[in-house]
Amino acid sequence: MDFNHLNNNNYIFGMLIIGIILLLILVIYLISRNYKNKRDYTRFRQSVYDEKTAEKEVAGRRRITPKMKQYILERDNYTCQICGISKGFLDDLYDGLGDYLLLEIDHVNSVANGGTGSDEDNLQVLCWRCNRTKGRDRTNQEVKQLIDYGVEYLESDNDMV
Ligand SMILES: [Zn+2]
Repeated sequence: MDFNHLNNNNYIFGMLIIGIILLLILVIYLISRNYKNKRDYTRFRQSVYDEKTAEKEVAGRRRITPKMKQYILERDNYTCQICGISKGFLDDLYDGLGDYLLLEIDHVNSVANGGTGSDEDNLQVLCWRCNRTKGRDRTNQEVKQLIDYGVEYLESDNDMV
């Protein structure tokens, strides 16, 4: 018997098995990696979609129709609901001056805090300055206090030191 020949065949057979096992491991690794990439991509797509949906939802709540805007301007008599400056007051000073007053429609309770632009009770006229000061977290009262504090400060005989 040629034992040497048999041993050689066993050796080749063994290497073949190891080769096949390694190949299988590689294939499984590649498949799983591809699966993971696909899963990550799907998650990424979903998060972008969720973000866009949330943005649309916020934009929808922020939206004030032109009709509503006109209604609020007339209801509030073109007057800032915090400092009281009005189109009429400026027009009385000089005809046409009121057109330079930048009045805005403010969400009393900000959109970020759950307010909507479709609820007239949540809308008010503010001048540009008061609206910027109010931001999204101050109340009318807090803005008024800031303005009063500023006026008080200016009227007091402060040395500004
Ligand atoms: Zn104002």
